[in-house]
This record gives sequence, C-alpha cells and structure tokens, in this order.
Amino acid sequence: MVELKTDTSIDEMYAAGQVVGQALTAVRKAADVGVSLLELDEVAREVLRAAGATSPFLGYRPSFAPVPFPAVICASVNDAIVHGIPTGYRLCDGDLVSIDCGAELGGWAGDSAISFTVGGARPADVRLIETAERALAAGIDAAVVGNHIGDIAHAIGSVCRAAGYGIPDGFGGHGIGRKMHEDPGVPNEGRPGRGMPLRHGMVLAIEPMLIASGKDGYHAAPDGWTLRTNDGSRAAHVEHTVAITDAGPRILTAREAL
Ligand code: MG
Ligand code: MG
Repeated sequence: MVELKTDTSIDEMYAAGQVVGQALTAVRKAADVGVSLLELDEVAREVLRAAGATSPFLGYRPSFAPVPFPAVICASVNDAIVHGIPTGYRLCDGDLVSIDCGAELGGWAGDSAISFTVGGARPADVRLIETAERALAAGIDAAVVGNHIGDIAHAIGSVCRAAGYGIPDGFGGHGIGRKMHEDPGVPNEGRPGRGMPLRHGMVLAIEPMLIASGKDGYHAAPDGWTLRTNDGSRAAHVEHTVAITDAGPRILTAREAL
C-alpha cells in the first residue's frame, strides 16, 4: 500500500533528508587515500548523533541477511555495487567509493547515496559516476504527477543502457516514509507509461546502480551483505529521496555541492 504524505509531513521528511545530506557531505570531505571505511562510518555516526537522528541502517536485518547491518553507512568500493559493510579497509589511490546513508528524525526516514573517487581518478570511473548522476537526474525529472513508475524506470534505464552500462536486476528504489522501505518499488529499468500512477504526496527513493562492463550479473559476497559484480568490473550507485508534488519533484536529500 502506498501512503501519500501531507505537505507538513513532506516538510518533516525534508528535515530528515537534510541530516542524510549533511552526513554524506561530511563523509565525502573525510574520504581520502589511507582513510578506513570504519572511520567514514564514524564520521556519519557523529553527524546523526549531533542532529538527534537515528540510523535505519544500523541493526537492519532483511530476510536475506545473515547478520544485522552493523553500521550507519554502506561503503561499497570498486566492484562492490551496494550494501558494503564498513571494515578496516583503507582507501587506496584510484578507488571508486559508493556511500549510502539513511537517517530517521521526527519519525521520518531519509535515504541517499553518492559515488566518488579518491586520489587519482580513472577516466572510466569519472564517466561511470557522471552517467549515474545523469540517470538519477533523468529519473527525478520523470517523477512528476501524471507520469507512472515506469516512466522513472525507463528514464534511468535509458541513460544507463545508452552509455553501455549494466543494471543489476532485482535491486532499485522504493517508497519511503515512516519506514525506510515502503511501497512501491522503483525499478531501474522499465517501460514508459506502465506501473503505478504518480500522485502528489508520494515520496520515493530513486537510486540507479550501474555496472561498468555492461553486464548485469552480480552476487552476494561471503559476508552475506555486499553485492559485487560477477566480472569484477566497477560499479556506481547514487540516490536521492524525492517527493512528488503538484509543483514538481522536490529533492529532500539535497546537499551542498562539493
Ligand atoms: Mg540508500
Ligand atoms: Mg534506498
């Protein structure tokens, strides 16, 4: 069931989304060659703590997971697509990092992700990340009243495929509100005009995931959480929480440009 949010609730969700944006900005600024993923998790924890927010990631245990998630960020490096558990791994020159973060504030959830490189960037990684951001922007542009979920999916998928990238099937965006994961699902590939009609008050997490090789295959790592590309090629993941309103899409996790 899809819960439509009131304008007041959307304003409250914006406050939660701003905490997520601040956490991602702080993590991005702290990330550098030699910094560990656990240190980045601590940076995000401190932002959530200072804002009086809690983490919907910490302790989260969906049916596929062997253990509750132990951190407030997912940190997915190079061939990891999403759901990477922060470890003592220290970032190396040229690593491609995707950080996903959530926050709960005032009973509402926010969810957002960024991809970036540390040290000297490979041109192929820059192109992959830029394409992921373009796919997200296209998905957000399609998140308007009168469109359907399939229009968002088609917009994202078209940008990814036109650039020659793969899309991991079975993972994508979602409704969000009191809980981090609500109906409806928002696939990263689909047919225009299909699926649920978009209405004022729907709030969606839109999150393209791209695989550099153009192949779609992925698998869970031995930790049961991290999803890695089957061919070892690199992946990018970006996400915003977006409210659909009569005045157009409103990005609730908007953050300062770095
Ligand atoms: Mg997320
Ligand atoms: Mg999400």
